[in-house]
Amino acid sequence: MRLTILGRSPACPNPGGACSGYLVEEDETDLLIDCGTGIVSRLREIVDYRRVSAIIISHMHLDHFIDIIPYAYGLKLVSGLADGSRLPLLLPPNGQQILNDVTSQWKDLPDLMAQVFDIREFDPSQTLRIGDLDITFAETVHYVPCWAIRIAGKKTLVYSADSGPSDRLGAHVKGADLFLAEAALFQKRGVPGEQGHLTPGEAGEIARKAGARRLVLTHFWQEFDVEEMVRAASDTFGGPAEVAEEWKSYLV
Ligand SMILES: [Zn+2]
Ligand SMILES: [Zn+2]
Repeated sequence: MRLTILGRSPACPNPGGACSGYLVEEDETDLLIDCGTGIVSRLREIVDYRRVSAIIISHMHLDHFIDIIPYAYGLKLVSGLADGSRLPLLLPPNGQQILNDVTSQWKDLPDLMAQVFDIREFDPSQTLRIGDLDITFAETVHYVPCWAIRIAGKKTLVYSADSGPSDRLGAHVKGADLFLAEAALFQKRGVPGEQGHLTPGEAGEIARKAGARRLVLTHFWQEFDVEEMVRAASDTFGGPAEVAEEWKSYLV
């Protein structure tokens, strides 16, 4: 299994960066996990974006889904889908309604989206099978409904999506070969209710308790001190943590 970091930025793209988007490939199956600002451009550099097996969106924050709109324009107006088929687009529960709310301001857009995407909502209680990959979900602690995504093929990758610490997330990470963990907080800011993201230290702790083999931090601000992030995460992980590099591929 190969993971490619298309974008590691948080809610605002870092200079020269892109928001959330990860390409996961194994044999003939390729999944785009999240599709935030700037991701379509990067995806198109790497693969034929008309042919990904599926797009899965962890939650309906803009930095995780908004680029599916330019994606649709590309498919409809320029590139086309070779055989007239539609790309599977898997949204979280209630995602279709939110997408409709966003796109309905443009008269033609909801129809256009439906013409190029086979839009469905995943059922988080069920295992989703795409190609040879089994995908399972765990609801996270976040400001809107959000699901961590576990992708099991020959190896296992777990993506935290956006999440504060929770036992449910820890259980979902159990035994992962690679834990791709958000680290959108440099440290807890002492704001009451600020529980919707992880610090690097918390990511490391979850990875260690879950027995994850490898920890890669993502979804963080340019302004963070990367060396300090790695140190904090490595301390709690009990091994070398890494920072996601955009464009880089990781063999899981
Ligand atoms: Zn986010
Ligand atoms: Zn979010």
